[in-house]
Amino acid sequence: MKLDLSASAADLTARLVDIESVSGSEGPLADAIEAALRDCGHLSVARDGNAIVARTELGRPERVVLAGHIDTVPVAGNLPSSLDRGLLYGCGASDMKSGVAVQLRLAAEVTAPAADVTYVFYDCEEVESERNGLRRLSRNDPASLAADFAILLEPTGGVVEGGCQGTLRAEIRAEGERAHSARAWLGRNAIHEAVGVLNVLRSYQAREPEVDGLRYREGLNAVGISGGVAGNVIPDECVVTVNYRFAPDRSAEQAAEHVREVFAGWRVTVTDVAGGARPGLGNQAAASFLAAIGGTPRAKLGWTDVARFARCWLTRAASMLRSPPSPNARSGCGAGSRAEGHADAKPGPAGTCPAMLSAAGPGRGEGCPSAYDR
Ligand SMILES: [Zn+2]
Repeated sequence: MKLDLSASAADLTARLVDIESVSGSEGPLADAIEAALRDCGHLSVARDGNAIVARTELGRPERVVLAGHIDTVPVAGNLPSSLDRGLLYGCGASDMKSGVAVQLRLAAEVTAPAADVTYVFYDCEEVESERNGLRRLSRNDPASLAADFAILLEPTGGVVEGGCQGTLRAEIRAEGERAHSARAWLGRNAIHEAVGVLNVLRSYQAREPEVDGLRYREGLNAVGISGGVAGNVIPDECVVTVNYRFAPDRSAEQAAEHVREVFAGWRVTVTDVAGGARPGLGNQAAASFLAAIGGTPRAKLGWTDVARFARCWLTRAASMLRSPPSPNARSGCGAGSRAEGHADAKPGPAGTCPAMLSAAGPGRGEGCPSAYDR
């Protein structure tokens, strides 16, 4: 199906929805997007698997990334798209083919933007991190993602959402001594000992720090507990799994250190950690973007792909914005900042980037949580 990039963003959203693109099966949609963009003489277009990167090359001093994923969750009897009382329904209409429609319209129409623009369309966002197309692009062709500022057009309810929080999982071990339950006084029950871990969690005061003008809200919670050997055994180990959602003023290392401090006295094993991204709304491109969009920005509390930009090259900003293409369909965006790898980029502020780069965790070694983390 040929995409008509001169159609309204709402009509274009409906066309995109009608090309099924469940994660792993984005080929036909990627083909259609690539073909449409190759018809735009002012763009250079490259493809990596089912990801497409289209760029203006105007030699502007600044470069902005507009990024969006083209895959959806599995179809649930909601294709083809339908209009009902002015609202568009269909798999991926909100998350995030409406955002992709905005990207495509801008790519086709704005032939001489004030800043150079890189339009990134990527696959496999809705599934595990290992398959994520943005992650693959960042490995295969990192220079193609370099920019001063990045916006993800994810749905956010019409509000700019800045940066994102990091996420860490750790196992806290309560230890005891194994014994036969008929002679329990000979042992020490690790499950009973775990109440100490739970008491720490119950009394924990989560921070609500302000970072670059946005209020983040942390959380430290038990998300699992396991223990027990048999129905007649005093258990010698009980493991409480905790999840720490931390504001982007803390690096992954600092988050791990904090959890170890909170649970001093217990054995702590950090199994998975992914750093967040600062909003960097003081960045010039971010500030002018905010001024143009209006409204009051807020902090992004979940982990998002914004952190991939922050982690790899961007040192100052990462935000989320949402700007509906029409009253009929919704989209959203996230934004990030300056790229050190970009040929004409100025160096970012010292000290910020290392924190992002160090987001790789011992669990996955990539600093990227799996889909359910978001
Ligand atoms: Zn999405």
